[in-house]
Amino acid sequence: MSNPTASSLYRADRCPPSQAFPCVRIDSQVAMAGSAGHKFLELVPSIGEELASEEIPENLSELCDQIDLSQIPLGEHFLQEAAWRYNVKTGVVEALGCGNNRRYPEDLDNEWICGTIDSMTLHNPDNQIEIWDYKFECFDNHTPPPAENLQLLFSALCATRYTMKNDAQIGLIHISAVDGSIWKESTTVGPVELGAFDMKLKSIIANIRQAEAELASGKTPDVFRGEWCRFCPAVSSCPAVIGLLRAAASGQINIAKLGEPVDASCALSAYETLRQLDKAVGFAKEALKAYALNHRIKLGNGNEYGARMAEKRIINPDVAYGTLMDLYGASVAQKAVPRSTSLTAIDSALSEIWEKKKAASPGVKITKKSITDATLKTIEELGGLSIELSERVDKHKVKD
Ligand code: SF4
Repeated sequence: MSNPTASSLYRADRCPPSQAFPCVRIDSQVAMAGSAGHKFLELVPSIGEELASEEIPENLSELCDQIDLSQIPLGEHFLQEAAWRYNVKTGVVEALGCGNNRRYPEDLDNEWICGTIDSMTLHNPDNQIEIWDYKFECFDNHTPPPAENLQLLFSALCATRYTMKNDAQIGLIHISAVDGSIWKESTTVGPVELGAFDMKLKSIIANIRQAEAELASGKTPDVFRGEWCRFCPAVSSCPAVIGLLRAAASGQINIAKLGEPVDASCALSAYETLRQLDKAVGFAKEALKAYALNHRIKLGNGNEYGARMAEKRIINPDVAYGTLMDLYGASVAQKAVPRSTSLTAIDSALSEIWEKKKAASPGVKITKKSITDATLKTIEELGGLSIELSERVDKHKVKD
């Protein structure tokens, strides 16, 4: 029986059995880039940028060199990799020191939760608690914002209880794992938010204990899939993943049946079967992806299915259009940078105008639809809107 650490609270909250199944931790390349980045930033204040860079695997040191260190809280007030533990039963907090490589005391009973925060100070120049966590982002950003970020809230709870202060500023520093670019978000939390978080911690632990009890009695606890499955160390023993992969591997999902002719007698069941199959295939693909994130699948002929760092070049369409126009003329520029829009895009862009109009005319009823309709009418009058009929097959309400 083990409790989650602060960094796995989010997953444990969404899927408590992830903490109860046997876990295997295998670092993916994306996770390794994140770990190297964290290590680099932890070492910079003590040994300097150059020596810290030498401690990082060569293939990842270029990424670290790209980080703008002036935007990272590395000053003398800040503690790097500060670890805490919190007793969910008694509310006691202990500071575990800094730079422990996220290794925690082993004599913990079920009442302690441990966690480490990347950078924090208990006394910034305004005598405030300030807590920051680095997120090395790659392609997707699923990190909850600071106000809902359980790892930040954990550190804030520990720091406020430890110092007897009321409030803490908590924030995320997002660092692109591709080019080192940075953006930040932060908020301040006080007794209300931290009291609610304390209750949440207790309920997370209770749900994990329940999942463990079900497993011990031979039952399989319900799991809950989602983006938190990414990097789940229990993925190899997760019943959702194993069940689907077994079904796909044993041919229980019979793709061959899709080729059979459809007539009126079986059309409805074909529709339902395909809908279910569509869902199952999506689920199976996600499960396979979650598995392959940590386990490379050898495909033969030197190919494999698994995680890797990929580079995507983002081209600014305005700059590209201007360049192509200057170099090769309008027809090439228009072909290379096509412009398109939709009713949804226009409607969404007009939201801001609607808000401004409402604020400028209090008490006057202005609907968003009226603004969209008037705009579309003008576009139509200028010859910018036409209607094209096409046949579409989909699920729709029958009109009387
Ligand atoms: S992989 Fe399975 S156990 Fe892990 S979080 Fe997802 S559903 Fe839960």
